[in-house]
Amino acid sequence: MKKIYLDHAATTPVDKKVVEAMLPYFYKHYGNASSLHSFGRKAHEALEESRKKVASLLNVKEKEIIFTAGGTESDNIAIKGIAYKNREKRYTKGPHIITSSIEHPAVLETCKHLEMQGYKIKYLPVDKHGIINIDELEKTISKNTFLITIMYANNEIGTIQPIKEIGQIARENNIIFHTDAVQAIGKTPIDPNKINVDLLSISSHKMYGPKGVGALYIREGLSIQPIIHGGGHERGIRSSTENIPGIVGLGKACELAKKRMEKDTKHIKKMRDKLIKNILEIEESYLNGHPQKRLINNAHFRFTGIEGESLLLSLDDKGIAASTGSACSSKKLQPSHVLIAIGLTPIEAHGSLRLSLGRENTQEEISYVTDVLPEIINRLRKISPLWKKQE
Ligand SMILES: *Cc1c(COP(=O)(O)O)cnc(C)c1O
Repeated sequence: MKKIYLDHAATTPVDKKVVEAMLPYFYKHYGNASSLHSFGRKAHEALEESRKKVASLLNVKEKEIIFTAGGTESDNIAIKGIAYKNREKRYTKGPHIITSSIEHPAVLETCKHLEMQGYKIKYLPVDKHGIINIDELEKTISKNTFLITIMYANNEIGTIQPIKEIGQIARENNIIFHTDAVQAIGKTPIDPNKINVDLLSISSHKMYGPKGVGALYIREGLSIQPIIHGGGHERGIRSSTENIPGIVGLGKACELAKKRMEKDTKHIKKMRDKLIKNILEIEESYLNGHPQKRLINNAHFRFTGIEGESLLLSLDDKGIAASTGSACSSKKLQPSHVLIAIGLTPIEAHGSLRLSLGRENTQEEISYVTDVLPEIINRLRKISPLWKKQE
């Protein structure tokens, strides 16, 4: 049976060109980038070449990019690094952070951790499409607010936040602005300077690169306290011998993203729009997230009378890989915090389906999905105690 992967928001396949770029750095150029000999120099060159590629995708300076072990670590370094740096200012400026209620756990749990240490955190609510209220953001700002951390685009429902407006407000109030752009990077052009972003998190494995590597953009001049101490790698902010093959992979992934963005966007959006159009023809099916302000590859639905896990298993039987809620919450029984935040009931949240597309998907695959999905929904509804209508 052919397999169709529609879970790119969870992770992407590594692009063949990325794998090819990485390979020599495992067995041939395996030096430590800090070593002075030729092996070390070769690794160091690759490190800086990759930094150039990441910086180029974001249109920022090379020295504003540090490499990390992934999106989670980038978020932790950004938020804790700024929070710890501002701790001493507690009595003058004070420890207040503003975030949203639909952040990825990498941000939410970091904020909860800081809350236990005495920081005050405001978790902004979102509307039914998952967008924060700008007026409420402005009202929440106090002279104690030193950091705003709001994601660029949501990993579950794909909603894109008004990042430029948030950046504007942060700038006017002299507040540092971090955004988790893990889902958005490579799918839409992002330039931190144009949107007043001071820190921006990237993860390689959400953009056709390898897992376990990421990057953090830190605006020039911004001071940040390290949370990992050691040999002083990455400007002392993130010690540990650089993961050169991974970093080369991320660099290549950024280079490809820049080169292919326009073409990929056209291809993916066309498939995604067809998917949404056809699936919404199913009775009592609804789109979650914003109809327009959403990632080009995200389609998120809910179906009355359906239990998401059964739906996933039925799709898996047909070779289709999808997700209900986020991968992180899909093994828990609690409904997704994002779906609850947009106002769904736990039952509605459990009846949701996320299909996230990627550059290797084809029109034929999408047609196959829209062919088999209505049958599956029908069959599941027939045996569902939640589907009263037919009785
Ligand atoms: C996947 C993801 C992360 C975590 O990235 P890792 O590299 O898996 O640690 C953080 N934020 C968002 C929005 C994500 O989708």
